[in-house]
Amino acid sequence: MTGTVYKLEVNPRITPRLERLEEVANNLWYSWDRPTRSLFASLSRSLWKAVDHNPKAFLKRADQKHLDSAAENPVFLGSMARVLSTYDTYHDLPSMAHVHGRPFRDDDLIAYFCAEFGFHESLPIYSGGLGILAGDHCKAASDMGLPFVGIGLLYRQGYFHQTLDADGQQHATYTDSDFDDLPVAPLHDPEGRELRVEVDLPGRSVQAKVWEVRIGHVRLILLDTWLPENTEHDREITHRLYGGDRNTRIEQEILLGVGGVRALTALGLKPTVWHINEGHAAFLILERIRGLVAAGQPFAAALEATAANVVFTTHTAVPAGHDHFAEDVIRRYFSHWERDTGITCERLLALGAEPGKTDFNMTALAIRGSRHQNGVSRIHGDVSARICSHFWPQLSAAENPMDYVTNGVHLPTFLATEWHETFDRYLGVGWQQRQTDPASWEGIDRIPDQTYWSVRQLLKSHLLYLVRDRVREQHLRNQGSPAHLDRLLKLADPSRPNVLTIGFARRFATYKRAALLFHDPEVLRSIICDADRPVLFLFAGKAHPADHPGQEIVRRIAEMAARPEFEGRILLLEGYDLHLSRRLVAGVDVWLNNPIYPLEASGTSGMKAAMNGAINLSVLDGWWGEGYDDKGNVPNGWAIKPASGHLDEARRDAEEARTLYELLQDKVIPTFYRSGPMGYSPEWVAMSKRSIATIAPRYNVIRMVGEYVQKFYAPAARQGRRLSADGFAPARALADWKTRIRNAWAGVRLRCLETPTGRVPFGQAVRVQVAVQLGGLLPEDVTVEALFGRPDTDHGRARRYSLTHSGALDHGEHLFELDLTPEQCGKLEYRIRAFPEHALLTHKFELGLMVWL
Ligand SMILES: *Cc1c(COP(=O)(O)O)cnc(C)c1O
Repeated sequence: MTGTVYKLEVNPRITPRLERLEEVANNLWYSWDRPTRSLFASLSRSLWKAVDHNPKAFLKRADQKHLDSAAENPVFLGSMARVLSTYDTYHDLPSMAHVHGRPFRDDDLIAYFCAEFGFHESLPIYSGGLGILAGDHCKAASDMGLPFVGIGLLYRQGYFHQTLDADGQQHATYTDSDFDDLPVAPLHDPEGRELRVEVDLPGRSVQAKVWEVRIGHVRLILLDTWLPENTEHDREITHRLYGGDRNTRIEQEILLGVGGVRALTALGLKPTVWHINEGHAAFLILERIRGLVAAGQPFAAALEATAANVVFTTHTAVPAGHDHFAEDVIRRYFSHWERDTGITCERLLALGAEPGKTDFNMTALAIRGSRHQNGVSRIHGDVSARICSHFWPQLSAAENPMDYVTNGVHLPTFLATEWHETFDRYLGVGWQQRQTDPASWEGIDRIPDQTYWSVRQLLKSHLLYLVRDRVREQHLRNQGSPAHLDRLLKLADPSRPNVLTIGFARRFATYKRAALLFHDPEVLRSIICDADRPVLFLFAGKAHPADHPGQEIVRRIAEMAARPEFEGRILLLEGYDLHLSRRLVAGVDVWLNNPIYPLEASGTSGMKAAMNGAINLSVLDGWWGEGYDDKGNVPNGWAIKPASGHLDEARRDAEEARTLYELLQDKVIPTFYRSGPMGYSPEWVAMSKRSIATIAPRYNVIRMVGEYVQKFYAPAARQGRRLSADGFAPARALADWKTRIRNAWAGVRLRCLETPTGRVPFGQAVRVQVAVQLGGLLPEDVTVEALFGRPDTDHGRARRYSLTHSGALDHGEHLFELDLTPEQCGKLEYRIRAFPEHALLTHKFELGLMVWL
C-alpha cells in the first residue's frame, strides 16, 4: 500500500456496570491477584495476550460487543463482583498484622528509592532481580499497611525483548511504551497543572514530569523527562533503563536522587526514613544535605542529620559492580554545588572517595551518607562487610555496621492459583496472614500425597503448554521444519507431565555459569539420556546486550540444545520475563542454580520455586547458604558445596560440575523415578513438601520487610527525630564531637597496669586495670572494655565488660578498672580495647575507631 498512514485508536465505551474495571486496571493489585487477571483474560484470550496482560490497555482496545455482552452475562458479573469484593476488602483493611508493636508514628513515612521496579510484565520498567525485589518490597509494604512511598524513573523503553535465532544468537529489540497504556497517571499541583520538578545539569535545568502508580495501599512516584520543554538530549534521559552512556547514567541517577527528593517535597511529603536500594539513588544524600545547608546548618551537621535516617542496601558482591563516575564528571555535574551551598567540591568528592582510586563511588557516598547498611543474605552480608571494611578502618569486618537482611519474595505474586485453593483447604483460611509462621506451614503434611502430586503435575502441564507455544513460535520464525518441531517437543508434552523437568532461568551474567551443566557433555549424556528415566532441561534468560561473554553463554546453550543426543531434552526459551518466570518456578520439578561462590548476593528465583514445591539443587551461596536444610529426616533440597577457594577457575568449575553430575545421577533422578504404585515417588513428595514447609515461612517478603522495619526503619525514624530536634542542635553536637574525636584519636593509647593471668578458682573475682592516655579527650568520650571468651571465639560472640573510670593518673593518663568474676570455667582469653562513645551514635562503632591493648 502507498500513501501516508494515519493512526487512530477507537476505544470502547465502558458501560456503567463495568466502570469499576477501570479502577482495578489502574492499581497493580492485579499483579498479585490472579482472579482479577483471569477476569480480564476471560473476555478475550487473544487480546489479553496481545496487550501483554495489561488490563488498562485491554480495556482501551476491547471489542465493544465483548464488553456489552459481558455486562449482560451473569457469570461474568458474578466473577467481577467477587473480584471487586476482594479488592474492596483489601483496601478497607490496612493490616499491620505483621508489624509487631507500633513502631511508627502517624507522621512517619518511608521513602524507598530504586532505579527499577518489577511488579508485572505490563509495567516494563525492570530488568531482573533487583527490580523484582523492589516491586515485591512495595507489595509487602502495601500488605503490611506501612507508611510507604516508592520513587523511581518512568522509562519509555524498559528492558529489551529478546529473540534467539537458529544459532542461539540473541537479538535485542526495544519498543516504546505508550504511557497512556501503562497503569500510571500524571500528578497535578494544587492549581490543577501537571506537576513538574526541575534538576540542574551542566549549563541547563531539566524538567521532569511526575507520575503515580498505585500498588494496593501504597504509591510509587515515577519521573520522566520526555517533555517538549526539554532539549532533545534531555528528553532521552529516561529513554531507556540502564541505557545510553556514562553521561546518561549520571543524569538518570541525578534525576532519581535529586529529582526524587524534590518530587516528594512538591507533593508535600516529608519522609522520615530514606531507603536507598542499591547505589544508583545515592545522590539523594547530596540533595538533602544541600537543603539543610541552605536552611543554615553547617555541612557536617547536615550530613549527620541526613545519614541518621538513611538506610542503604547493597546488592553487589564484587567491588567492580559498584557504580562509579570519573572525578571530572562529578565536578562538571555538580559545578553549581559550591555556589548553592558554599561548600567546596572537594568535600563533596570526599564523600565518594575510595582509597587508591580517583573515581567517585556511589557505594562510598551511600555508606558515608547512611547509618543503616545491609547486604541481602548472610553470606553477602559478610562479603559486603569485607568489601566495605575500609570505611571503618580500625574494626574487624565482623564488627563493622554492615548487617544483612536476606531477601524474600511476594508469595501471592509467585504462588500458583492452584496452591491458593489447596492451602485454603489444608492450611486453613487465613494462611496468608500466617505466612511467616513456620508452624502454620507444617500443615502441608495434611495434604494427601496424591492430591499434592496431582497439583504439582497440573502446574507442570500448564508450564508445558506455554513451553510448546514458545518453542513452536521460536522454531517456525527461524524457518525450522514442522517435523523437527515434533522431535524438539517430544518430552515437553502436557498430557504426559511425568518427565523430570529441571529449570534454569535468570540473567545470563557470567558468574551465574548457566553453561556449567555442559562442562562434560559426554557425562551429561550418560546421565540424562536414559530412555526409562528421561530428563528435560528448560533454560531461559537474557544477557545484557553489551555483555558479550553473557551472549556467548546463550549460544553455547543453544549449541548444546541442537546436538542430536540432547534434542528435545534441552530447550532454550526466549523472552524471560515475569510471566515466564511465574510459570517456570511453579511448574518445574527442580530449580537449578550454580553461581560462582560467593558472587550470588542472594538470588530469589529459587525461593519462588520452593514455595511452589519445586526442589532446589544449588550451590551453597546467597540465600541457599542459609535456606538449605538437611537436619531433619528429609532434606529440603540438594546442595552443591563450593569447591575450595584455593583452586584455579578451571579446577573449581570441574569439581563443582562433578558434584552437580553426581547429585543428578545418585539423588535427583533416582528419587524422582522411584515411583510407588500410585505413579509418583513418595520420597520426592516428602522432599517437595519440606521445601514448601521450610522455605515459604522464611523467604517471603513479609518476613523480609518485617526485618527492615525492626532493624532499620523504626530505628532510623527515631534516630532522624533525635538528631533534628531543637533545630538540629543534636546533629551539630554530634558532628562537633566526631570532629574532636577524629582529631584526637591518634593520641589515644592503652597501657596495662594489672591484668590477671594464670589460674583462679571458680567464683573468685579478678581485677583488671588499664591506664588510658586520652590524648585530650574526656573519660566519657571513650568506652574501655574487656572481651572474654574461649580461645578462638570471634569478637562478636565474646562476653563484653566495660571498665569504669576511676580517676586521673599522671601525664594525662586515666585509670579504668574492672572487678570481674568469670562466669565460665575452662581456658579463657581476654583482650582489652577502647573506642569512642556518644549517646547520639546510631551504631556504637560507626566511627570505625578502635585501639587495642
Ligand atoms: C525472580 C526473578 C529474577 C531474579 O532471579 P535470581 O534468582 O535472583 O537470578 C530475575 N528475573 C525474573 C523475571 C524473575 O522473576
